[in-house]
Amino acid sequence: MDIQTIGIVGAGQMGNGIAHVMALAGYDVLLNDVSAEALQKAVDTITGNLDRQVGRGKVTEADRDATLKRIVTTQTLAELGQSDLVIEAATERETVKQAIFEDLIPHLKPTTILTSNTSSISITRLASRTDRPEKFMGFHFMNPVPVMQLVELIRGIATDKETFEACRGVVDKLGKTAASAEDFPAFIVNRILMPMINEAVYTLYEGVGSVESIDSSLKLGANHPMGPLELADFIGLDTCLAIMNVLHDGLADTKYRPCPLLTKYVEAGWLGRKSQRGFYDYRGDVPVPTR
Ligand code: NAD
Repeated sequence: MDIQTIGIVGAGQMGNGIAHVMALAGYDVLLNDVSAEALQKAVDTITGNLDRQVGRGKVTEADRDATLKRIVTTQTLAELGQSDLVIEAATERETVKQAIFEDLIPHLKPTTILTSNTSSISITRLASRTDRPEKFMGFHFMNPVPVMQLVELIRGIATDKETFEACRGVVDKLGKTAASAEDFPAFIVNRILMPMINEAVYTLYEGVGSVESIDSSLKLGANHPMGPLELADFIGLDTCLAIMNVLHDGLADTKYRPCPLLTKYVEAGWLGRKSQRGFYDYRGDVPVPTR
């Protein structure tokens, strides 16, 4: 299956990163968002990130210019109709994603592969509501996309081999590494990572350690580049809680119960770096633990 044009729906932090790596690898990118502001911000972010790569000698100026030319933005979903592959990277809400697929499908070629970058929603369920469950799968990038090496490829129950191989071919062309995961709650990375983060929050909640001692224990004692609480702040505590809820509901095992302290931080609106406060307070020059 020959893939040349890639449609991306949603130009937020993941969508802009996906557009960046796809265009840099030579694909033509059609980037869609409902918000003109989000599209402009995405182009500015991609330009800034490419400039940084040029500064570090990783990308030539000619490649940067050609990459930017390969990205076309549009607020009209129908303009993604000629895509060979569509990656949906819009807001993590099932009704939003479902409405996008419903609006998009009448404009697509019968051969177009449809994928979602969802972190937690069932691929099989999303696929079942489309006209092409066999050509539907999960294409799960890690954040920040230009930096992180892994892409999880998730087969729904109906995904055919040709679709999986075509997506694997795209990951290869990006120079990234694919991990194949079955369609169960939170797939592989978040199935393992989130319970560890949740356990770190329990360790804090029960007073076993402070924010600083928990993070330095995992950094120095287990050689993790970031402590689990620092990492939770980076991901977003609302996202961490949402994924724990998906694990808890989807696997019906009390070992996945979200820590009440994590819930409390989210209720307070202390969501981590994006709101300037989480397990650390980022409003000053250096992050200060909040417990
Ligand atoms: P984000 O909030 O930064 O961006 C979402 C974008 O979707 C926004 O620009 C919004 O305007 C747009 N959007 C909303 N409804 C739309 C519609 N109907 N049509 C087109 N665009 C629409 O979110 P994000 O962090 O980029 O996450 C996007 C997806 O990627 C989610 O499914 C999320 O679970 C997944 N994901 C996120 C991360 C992460 O670390 N943030 C990592 C892996 C996967």
